[in-house]
Amino acid sequence: MNARPLELPLSSLDELLDGFEVVSIPLNTRFRGVEHRECAYLQGPCGAGEFAPFLEYGPAEASRWLAAAIEAAYLGWPEPVRATVPVNATVPAVPAGAVAGVLARFDGCRTAKVKVAERGQNLDDDVARVAAVRDGLGADAKVRLDANGGWDVDQAVAAITRLAAFDLEYVEQPVMPVEDLARVRKTLARNGIDVLIAADESIRKADDPMRVVELEAADLAIVKVAPLGGVRAALRIADETGLPMVVSSALDSSPGMAAGVALAAALTELDHACGLGTINLLDGDVIADPLVPRDGTIDVARAAAARHLDPTCVERHRASPERRQWWRERLIASYQHLKRDA
Ligand SMILES: [Mg+2]
Repeated sequence: MNARPLELPLSSLDELLDGFEVVSIPLNTRFRGVEHRECAYLQGPCGAGEFAPFLEYGPAEASRWLAAAIEAAYLGWPEPVRATVPVNATVPAVPAGAVAGVLARFDGCRTAKVKVAERGQNLDDDVARVAAVRDGLGADAKVRLDANGGWDVDQAVAAITRLAAFDLEYVEQPVMPVEDLARVRKTLARNGIDVLIAADESIRKADDPMRVVELEAADLAIVKVAPLGGVRAALRIADETGLPMVVSSALDSSPGMAAGVALAAALTELDHACGLGTINLLDGDVIADPLVPRDGTIDVARAAAARHLDPTCVERHRASPERRQWWRERLIASYQHLKRDA
């Protein structure tokens, strides 16, 4: 998939490296096997563009994240069509007894996303957790599940059939292959189980997000700005697929989260709360007033201002010279890939 927005101004490498910053922010909870989140930033006329592909990604994948960072710093984002974006609470695969404590950290959120199909757990664990979330939020709240492709087709059909009793908003990526996703969706419909299916990995990691549409594999799509190459590229996918969108984040610091808010703010239709309430996964940030949701929403104007790095915060978290050099080289490799692709 060529996710590079056509209108992207391809700034010179010297320009990109001018003001380049790298930080290492401690995580509140170990995630993807790491205890710190390293993020780099470009600084252009519009503010900072976050460039933070996960460490194991090669230049091809990382170049999409660079395209998103260049867009944020040099081009800015499309005009918003709404002033606030509703966000969801996220409940990891914790024991049911820990659910109330997790929900308490997401003040005012009326939608919760619950992780299910965790390796080493079983369906009874999922049922207990989802029951606790429904109980904690009440009957009028929305509860969605994310399996991260952890089930096979039979497991997914059995699990969703049982979990449907909790009145689900949708189930995200119950199985990994897009063909299986279509199979699960069709089997549920045939069995009269009325639960929507959302595609996440099938959009974000796929060479061709249109497969989801061709196979009628999902009712809605989860989109993340950086892996898709920017706000405009994500809007184009929304256009091409015609699927309703839920915007999500990727362990972003505030400038990266702001890009997600910009996308959610620019979508013509936004019927679902977005996964942009995760800033508290980081124990620190590059702005003084991190983009924590307030009363279940993030203010769009506040997010736009989050592109301006606070020098004191950057100083506090600045990465070592060795890591800064590593990120410099990574930026150069990603830039070369992006230029070759252009
Ligand atoms: Mg997901």
